[in-house]
Amino acid sequence: MKLKCNDCGHDFEGNISLKDGNWMSVCPKCGCEFTVEVPKGRIRMMFVDDSDPDLDDEHFTDNFVGRDIRSYYAFDNPEDFIEAWYKMRDNPDGMWYWVLDGEELITSGACDPDDDDGFAEHFGFNLEELRENHKEMGVTLEEKKAEAIERMRMLGIFPQTISQFKEDGRVSISMDPWGAFYWADGEDLKHIREFEAEYDALVYVAIRSYMFIGCVDSYLFVSKYKEEWPKDRNDIRAKRALAYVYNHDAPECSEIGYIGIEPTIAAGLKRTW
Ligand SMILES: [Zn+2]
Repeated sequence: MKLKCNDCGHDFEGNISLKDGNWMSVCPKCGCEFTVEVPKGRIRMMFVDDSDPDLDDEHFTDNFVGRDIRSYYAFDNPEDFIEAWYKMRDNPDGMWYWVLDGEELITSGACDPDDDDGFAEHFGFNLEELRENHKEMGVTLEEKKAEAIERMRMLGIFPQTISQFKEDGRVSISMDPWGAFYWADGEDLKHIREFEAEYDALVYVAIRSYMFIGCVDSYLFVSKYKEEWPKDRNDIRAKRALAYVYNHDAPECSEIGYIGIEPTIAAGLKRTW
């Protein structure tokens, strides 16, 4: 979890641990042990730090006291908790967790996609109703592609580039500053496909630019979160986009972030910031 050292102000990603009734952490920079203010709420969910496989299940106990807690959540009511639980179900913070209602431990052990039966029983939810309301709403590739084509049109991209994407799934790279397109292939295509696989996203165009950090490719993509698509379109209207920025010189520095985009006179795209 994100922590801030009380002593030196250092921000870091670390664990907390309950000792003598206080949540504590140790600053990796100055070594100071300090108390952490954890969120308050009736229902608490905690994931143990199981990054070390040797500390996995055989060492898991029902008691979280003294254990290294990687993440800690608190909710005021069962409804908020169950919504949050369904959101993280397919991508939990770790394998092993505890859920407490007040001081009562209601779940402990491996975080399992079927744990909702226990929560339904404990909180008096109708399990069938819960599951019906939280069915996997997988977005199909066809839907993503249709959305991508619409966004390409909004961006004023060269029509032939759009049809190459539509008919043959070709992803084009637009070269800063004029916006001439060429097809991504070789290593470029490999990086695009890796990003798509990792994020379950569809890349429809990339912009290559040379910035002070070096040569970067900004991938414009359609995410798997359909509820965010209208916002993505608004961003495009406002000449910006959330992009995955692949850094050729330092691939480990690649990241998702907002960029400014603008059509070029050649019906390509360029980055404005
Ligand atoms: Zn410190």
